[in-house]
Amino acid sequence: MALLVQKYGGTSVGSVERIQSVALKVKKARDEGHQMVVVVSAMSGETNRLVALAKAIQEPSNPRELDVLLSTGEQVTIALLAMALEKIGCPARSYTGFQAHILTDSAFNKARIQEIDDARVRADLEAGFVVVVAGFQGVDEQGDITTLGRGGSDTTAVAMAAALKADECQIFTDVDGVYTTDPRVEPKARKLDKITFEEMLEMASLGSKVLQIRSVEFAGKYHVPLRVLSSFEEGEGTLITFEEDGMEEAKISGIAFNRDEAKLTVRGVPDMPGVAYKILGPIGEANIEVDMIVQNISHDGTTDLTFTVHRNDYRKALAILQEVAKGLNAREVLGDDTIVKISLVGVGMRSHAGIAGTMFGTLAKEGINIRMISTSEIKISVVIDEKYLELGVRALHEAFGLAKA
Ligand code: ASP
Ligand code: MG
Repeated sequence: MALLVQKYGGTSVGSVERIQSVALKVKKARDEGHQMVVVVSAMSGETNRLVALAKAIQEPSNPRELDVLLSTGEQVTIALLAMALEKIGCPARSYTGFQAHILTDSAFNKARIQEIDDARVRADLEAGFVVVVAGFQGVDEQGDITTLGRGGSDTTAVAMAAALKADECQIFTDVDGVYTTDPRVEPKARKLDKITFEEMLEMASLGSKVLQIRSVEFAGKYHVPLRVLSSFEEGEGTLITFEEDGMEEAKISGIAFNRDEAKLTVRGVPDMPGVAYKILGPIGEANIEVDMIVQNISHDGTTDLTFTVHRNDYRKALAILQEVAKGLNAREVLGDDTIVKISLVGVGMRSHAGIAGTMFGTLAKEGINIRMISTSEIKISVVIDEKYLELGVRALHEAFGLAKA
């Protein structure tokens, strides 16, 4: 007997019929003797619909009220799934984030889970219930409803699995696993049987969209075995695991990309201690995440600083930067929100030289100009113009031999 946490995404619970087939899958696992916790997303399209309603009234929407609104999506699916389970003779109980005591900080719209008091869930499992938990939401110290950021149900599932010391956390979605790149961009993309947490973190953060990055961080930190599989097809999916010694590694596991990028540059700032802090401090205080940062070699005592942010934060970052630039006597502030990032990811890169050369050579051959570069032990990222995204991804996929056999 195992304790399993299963998570079903929006498409998997997108209609009454689909909710009923999720119920059958859950019942089957329970009949095999497993204790089951099921985390669900809102029905597909629902969260977007709610966001649009809020925007129609107020933009940007009041963050606290937005969370009260968005949390309703998942509340609908937990109740329906619990009913569907009951109907087929499988005792079930649904819980909102508040009822399941998923405690978070108070950063509305992007809250982080701090603690889960799982006493009630455990008692229900012992009593033979399937426990159905609303993904994507929690409650802060004041008792206010919070949400965890888009895609946050994955994180709820992993956090529940960690708290309950589950044997496996299974993320059921509309794809059958993690691919070498997005098959919509490169149809020759191949499903990976295994990927390390480190690689998956890079793939997720770089926009592979299979799993919310926070969920992978959580799983890595608390050693939760994590599996991504399809709700609609049989199969083993992709297991996300730890790096094993002697594992025969491909040089590159995948090519991730992110379309939601924007870059900002402050030109001609004095090159002296504290300047990067004066520029990036206020950006951080505004809760804007900065990704790549490049500072140029200085000329005549001044330098340029360029960094990237999520496209949604572009306007806000630009406004902050224009203020900061005045205080620093900077020459000018530039911005571009038509850029994308492509990254090669692979733990095998550690032991193979020449990867960067092949990457840059491949892009050059296609006439793609590289605007920024950053590297880490297991990835190389480049920023390029949006219009070259597909071309760049396909060329690199080919160059590194990632296609299906
Ligand atoms: N319903 C939320 C969203 O669409 C959370 C999730 O599905 O994971 O982002
Ligand atoms: Mg999702």
